[in-house]
Amino acid sequence: MTDNGTPPGDTLVLLLGDQLGDVSSLRGRDPAATQVLMVEVAEEATYVRHHKAKIAFLFSAMRHRAAALRTRGWRVRYVALDDPANGGSFTAEVVRACAELSPARLAVTEGGEWRVRAMQESWQTLTGVPTDILPDDRFLCGHSDFAAWADGRRDLLMEDFYRAMRRRHGLLMDGREPAGGRWNFDRDNRKPAERDLMMPRPLSFPPNAVTRDVLALVAERFADHPGSLDGFDWAVTAEDAGAQADHFFAHALPRFGDHEDAMLLGERHLWHSILSPYLNAGLLDPLDLCRRAEAAYRAGRAPINSVEGYVRQILGWREYMRGIYWREGPNYVDRNFLDHHRPLPGFYWTGDTDMACLAEAIGQTLETAHAHHIQRLMVTGNYALLIGADPRAVHQWYLEIYIDAYEWVELPNTLGMSQFGDGGLVGTKPYVSSGKYIDRMSDYCRSCRYDVNARTGADACPFNALYWDFIARHRERLGRNRRMAMPYRTWDRFSETEQRAVRAQAADHLATLDAAPDADYR
Ligand SMILES: Cc1cc2nc3c(=O)[nH]c(=O)nc-3n(C[C@H](O)[C@H](O)[C@H](O)COP(=O)(O)OP(=O)(O)OC[C@H]3O[C@@H](n4cnc5c(N)ncnc54)[C@H](O)[C@@H]3O)c2cc1C
Ligand code: SF4
Repeated sequence: MTDNGTPPGDTLVLLLGDQLGDVSSLRGRDPAATQVLMVEVAEEATYVRHHKAKIAFLFSAMRHRAAALRTRGWRVRYVALDDPANGGSFTAEVVRACAELSPARLAVTEGGEWRVRAMQESWQTLTGVPTDILPDDRFLCGHSDFAAWADGRRDLLMEDFYRAMRRRHGLLMDGREPAGGRWNFDRDNRKPAERDLMMPRPLSFPPNAVTRDVLALVAERFADHPGSLDGFDWAVTAEDAGAQADHFFAHALPRFGDHEDAMLLGERHLWHSILSPYLNAGLLDPLDLCRRAEAAYRAGRAPINSVEGYVRQILGWREYMRGIYWREGPNYVDRNFLDHHRPLPGFYWTGDTDMACLAEAIGQTLETAHAHHIQRLMVTGNYALLIGADPRAVHQWYLEIYIDAYEWVELPNTLGMSQFGDGGLVGTKPYVSSGKYIDRMSDYCRSCRYDVNARTGADACPFNALYWDFIARHRERLGRNRRMAMPYRTWDRFSETEQRAVRAQAADHLATLDAAPDADYR
């Protein structure tokens, strides 16, 4: 026996904070010959300044998972953040555990970012303990599967990947044909929404004693991190995450598709699932969610446009983004195709702006650590791209601020899809729009001090001039992109006077940002 009462010769299994379900490192092991290690470490909580609610969610979910494992007979060495012996990093804690427990082997499931994988690769040398880094098979497309699909293709189109995944997993297939007769029902899924008293709300999970302890710890230790802990009501167990999934399938899935791109003031969730934090932390299983969505369609409980849209997000986009992240390598983060260098405006950390759409999306994000896809893409992402914000700074903001943000999914979404930093690998054209799109898909403009129909003048919606300025200044890089032909044709129809006025309006707006005292927030 070692000092801790652990028999030498055990396998030590480190579970990371987002490995809270059925993971390859633990599966099939004998609890009697396994020592589980879980650690709350300052380095992971602070390498970017994560939203307080994100840290609280993960620490509480980890504590609940440790308790559940112990109940099932596993020995868990749990190192809390405020444990005086806590070494502060994964590596320090792995080295300490190996020294104290003398395991025969160390096993880990591959971490979700290059930074963590590099650490994992150093542990065998540092500890002298043979280390197995196992694939993360919670995903539906492994690294070699993605390579097999991608190798030799000129364009890595998500739509092609998604169809291959549908066929491979037999999801929403009628024999060899797509269910409902089409692969993609996206064009049915762009309806704005009206206020609706019957709109479903996600379930609320008031903090129990474990979560309350964590909330107090986070409030004290991470006081300078962005975001609020007030009203924290995220699920922190697989059971409660499952209850939210049941709730989504019963009440929101049927209209998920219709209003997937809609935004409404004060309505934070619309018909979205609000399951991404649970899915990404391992509290829910992606294939199970896809199958349940399909079952709802087959049973006539949800229409094909909703079910196909939902399955596409998980089986398509989620897996595709992960594939891109690992395929493109650790330097993907440095890409900056449009050569953008402006810092993010300080109001991204306060919500204090008179642009109603941004105030709403950022305000909600600071309060809850969540915003839905179109808020992320067409409000905060769109504005950052139009003003020429540095894609790395934008990436850092998204990684910090969202409860579901892990680099494998956040980086390709932000740098690739939202900021066009990879020059068109993920998206075939930049996701930019004037205020018109936001007005069509939301009611934000109705309460905004700016006039969404004006391009110039003191009351003109800033998105309008910024949009045309973006088009004009990137002609060299984007002018030959076939999908950008229409905006360039329209811009060329503007009179010279109009073009000059629009560009001057944009320049004024950008100058105001540059002059703001918080422009150099970082
Ligand atoms: C700039 C930007 C950054 C983003 N960062 C993240 C992130 O850090 N983590 C994250 O999980 N998602 C991210 N997304 C994708 C998407 O916004 C969120 O997955 C979604 O808003 C989560 O809310 P939900 O569970 O209600 O999703 P729903 O709208 O209900 O969608 C269903 C599920 O599909 C998956 N999904 C949907 N869209 C995407 C996508 N583009 N990429 C990957 N998975 C997707 C999610 O798992 C989600 O739970 C980002 C999108 C953008 C534009
Ligand atoms: S008018 Fe412009 S700034 Fe105001 S909410 Fe609409 S799009 Fe946003």
